[in-house]
Amino acid sequence: MTYSQNWDLDSIFPGGVNSPELAQKLELLKEQIKTFASAVTNYVVTADDASFTNFVALTNQAQIIEAGLLQVGVFITALMSDDFTNSSLSAKASEIDALEASYAKPRSQFKKLLATIDDPTWSNILDVPTLKAIDFALNEMRQEANELLDDATEELLTQLGLDGINAWSSHYDTIAAGLTMPFTDEHGATTTISAGQALNHLEGYPDAQVREKLLAGYEKMWGQADGLVADTLNHLAGFRLTDYKAHGVTDFLKKPLELNRMSQATLDTMWQVVSDNKAMLTKYFARKAQLMGKQALGFQDIYAPVHVGEFKNQELSYDDAAEFIMANFAQFSPKMAALAKTAFEKRWIESENRPGKQPGGYMESVPELGESRIFLTFTGSQNDAATIAHELGHAFHSSVLTDLPFWRGNYAMNVAETASTFAELVVNDAKVKAATNDAEKVTLLDAKLNNPVAMFMNIHARYLFETKFYKLRQEKVLTPDELSTLMDEAQHEAFANSLDTYHPHFWASKLHFYIDSVPFYNFPYTFGYLFSLGIYAKAQTTENFEEQYIALLRDTANMSTEELAQKHLGVDLTQPAFWQAGADLVAKDINEFLALTEQFI
Ligand SMILES: [Zn+2]
Repeated sequence: MTYSQNWDLDSIFPGGVNSPELAQKLELLKEQIKTFASAVTNYVVTADDASFTNFVALTNQAQIIEAGLLQVGVFITALMSDDFTNSSLSAKASEIDALEASYAKPRSQFKKLLATIDDPTWSNILDVPTLKAIDFALNEMRQEANELLDDATEELLTQLGLDGINAWSSHYDTIAAGLTMPFTDEHGATTTISAGQALNHLEGYPDAQVREKLLAGYEKMWGQADGLVADTLNHLAGFRLTDYKAHGVTDFLKKPLELNRMSQATLDTMWQVVSDNKAMLTKYFARKAQLMGKQALGFQDIYAPVHVGEFKNQELSYDDAAEFIMANFAQFSPKMAALAKTAFEKRWIESENRPGKQPGGYMESVPELGESRIFLTFTGSQNDAATIAHELGHAFHSSVLTDLPFWRGNYAMNVAETASTFAELVVNDAKVKAATNDAEKVTLLDAKLNNPVAMFMNIHARYLFETKFYKLRQEKVLTPDELSTLMDEAQHEAFANSLDTYHPHFWASKLHFYIDSVPFYNFPYTFGYLFSLGIYAKAQTTENFEEQYIALLRDTANMSTEELAQKHLGVDLTQPAFWQAGADLVAKDINEFLALTEQFI
């Protein structure tokens, strides 16, 4: 093994949860927050000098605190995902949550301060060179200030959230961590597996019968916990809706759209194009089912690998995956390849396959080191290689922003998923091109089509479910059965009735519905995917692509999404043309798949 599969967390804070350096850092942050709070309270805009030195100092202090909070937050998150069932970590996590909560008040006071500054003074402030780079963030905060309630109420809401929305979110983790189910492989051997391991198997276990039983067992496992999980979902959403209402927000999509700096028109156009393009995917499903010897695919089959003819799917070693990713990143951007090399060599990635790890994958920036950390479980499948590429795409995005002010790195999820899906596309496309025969090509093309299936169908189902759920939740608490019915309907619509089994307890099994800090953790994925398809198309016809790509990434927290698309791609996101062009690229892959598999049916 050339590359370690265990990440280095000691370079962030040595010694784990009891690190003295971590304790010192938390003390320092406490002091910094106190100092900032009094500086905000005492700041008087008219008494400031012409270069707004005090104001500049305030923005610097805030960014230092936020980077520090992120640094400690990333560290504790990493420890927890590493050792998912270790409840002794939660005390430190709560301490950090409380620290973050104590920053909320001065932060909202700072925002309110911005709203009290008159327009002429405001434009003078934004003319200060160091503030010009963060003028978008400052304008956004000034805007947000108008919605804020009085300080005491905001403070109370934050404090209540610790035992409210934030607690419900971590309560979900506690439930998920305690779940296990029996798993019988194709040789008849039975073991007990965690929810996370079951999910990994579900997303690509090669044996169809094992998969079928697995989904049934997975449904049953979540069904047994669905009373607890339904409480969690209802109250998490209920807290959020009450919070919105208190701020005069009645449209539950307003915040998710604002967070992604995009308009409802853009979102609606995107979903319309997705809906209009389902037929190509159901055609692909029908062929895939045929190749698997089935009448129709089940929910458990949609990401399962297709094997035809002589081809035998080889397990990929971690080292081979790493080398392949680096070599193919280099074709598009040497800088992207260099970043990947650093990540593998400097142990930024935790990828070991063992029980007790949190399910899923993520990338987090470690701002004070100018580094990233990536978490995932590598089982040796082609999908896992794509997941590494995906997270490295995030890490690359983060890396091109390290020299900019912290607030310039505050990009939204929809554009965050652009760099990641772009990286995934590069790797998936390269795998298809590297195929030595048709059988191999079919398997790889099928793996590449996992993404459009996820974005056009699976994620669409989550969006449909969540919009209906939030609508109903404004009126009442939903029972587990009602939630399962909603999910079943959403999946039928999103998958265009093309499957023979669905996963009605998906509302319980999917972590994304339980994230406290981000509502509607779904549509930004589809956005990012289609947006990156547009960029990918451009990459193949543009000479100095790397430069342009980096310029776009550096602007991601610097303007609205519509402006970003207009400036760097010259397209209008509220019109279907751009989205359809992305869907057409998917259609090309599907047509190739249909033509290639003709010989194998
Ligand atoms: Zn991602």
